[in-house]
Amino acid sequence: MITAINCNGERLGAELAHLATITEATPPAVTRVVFSDADLRARNYFKDLCRKAGLSIREDGIGNIFARWQGSDPESAAIGTGSHTDAIPNAGLYDGVVGVLGGLEAIRILQEKGFKPRRSIELLMFATEEPTRFGVGCLGSRALAGTYNEEKILSLRDEEGNGARDCAKRIGLSGEFNALMLPENYYGAFVELHIEQGPLLEKVGLPIGIVTAIAAPASLRVTFEGEGGHAGTVLMPDRKDALLAGAELALAVDEISRATGSADTVGTTGMLQVFPGAINSIPSRCTLGIDIRDTQLETRDLAVAGVKLTAQEIAARRNLPITIETINSDLPATCDARIIAAAERACETLKLKPLKMVSRAYHDSLFMARLFPTCMIFIPSRGGVSHRPDEYSSPEQIARSVEVLALTLAQLAE
Ligand SMILES: [Zn+2]
Repeated sequence: MITAINCNGERLGAELAHLATITEATPPAVTRVVFSDADLRARNYFKDLCRKAGLSIREDGIGNIFARWQGSDPESAAIGTGSHTDAIPNAGLYDGVVGVLGGLEAIRILQEKGFKPRRSIELLMFATEEPTRFGVGCLGSRALAGTYNEEKILSLRDEEGNGARDCAKRIGLSGEFNALMLPENYYGAFVELHIEQGPLLEKVGLPIGIVTAIAAPASLRVTFEGEGGHAGTVLMPDRKDALLAGAELALAVDEISRATGSADTVGTTGMLQVFPGAINSIPSRCTLGIDIRDTQLETRDLAVAGVKLTAQEIAARRNLPITIETINSDLPATCDARIIAAAERACETLKLKPLKMVSRAYHDSLFMARLFPTCMIFIPSRGGVSHRPDEYSSPEQIARSVEVLALTLAQLAE
């Protein structure tokens, strides 16, 4: 096992800074929506860096980029690492990007150290992790894991009505979605480096997080149909106010999520649409967007079932028609014990004390975990802030995490 390694923080810092200038927003804000010109330029920059590092590049029909450092035993399953470079409007420069450029830096410092991997090490840049264009997150990794097939991808439209195939072709991709799924023995292990996007590491004062489980969301859209009317003339006993049903349900989401017995259950009503939305008009329709997450499927689904049942009860009691749609229901993931142990050994070698923690945001790794042993390494986020231009992790924190990643990959590829 390698006992010392040094990340070239300057080189990585310069590349992070350069990638941040490829944006549709005014710097320092980063906006890089998938299949946009900025996305294309970021891809070209990334591929260029990979070529300079001697990696062989493959790009699939939806834009996942695979950059491979060939090992001495190409028959064995490769070790994967990577993340995404697309960014929501007005984002910062670290989300996803540190896992891509940091993954490249990890490979380069292993190369410079003279390390010869037995298994190939493959760096992945996932296409369209953010849901900005098509309303669904992690589309690239969903496709690789086979949870989104060609038909499902083709059914997606962006706000202008463009399909994924046309968008992909516009930036020079094939737009072929029929063979995106990876074979089950493709990766022997997958490790994603990512910023925490939360406050925990900073709070406990530890430099690195090793993720043991990734929470997964289920989201529901619930609509109550009431009866509209004049706010002055319809007397209280005659009303069918849809908003009141919605308000009851929002309170119930909170209550149910607190009562599952799992501290990891979280429930949020993040959207409440009231129609027609006039001050002197009784709400005739109310739609709620509800997000429920947990690291355990049982308690997550217990909360989801409770919310659906309560919604039905409210509708029955208030005598209102109701529709409940499940928008998505992803499986939570447990991280692989062998990769966790490798990451712990890497931290020990580097004299860093890690925190074992849960990822409460979801990532491409959630979908990679469907097929492959998977784990994530977290970097502290200043103030827990993310998806904002002032998102920040220090060069020192990033460099240390890249070293942890490098030593973890080296063990897995040996
Ligand atoms: Zn991300």
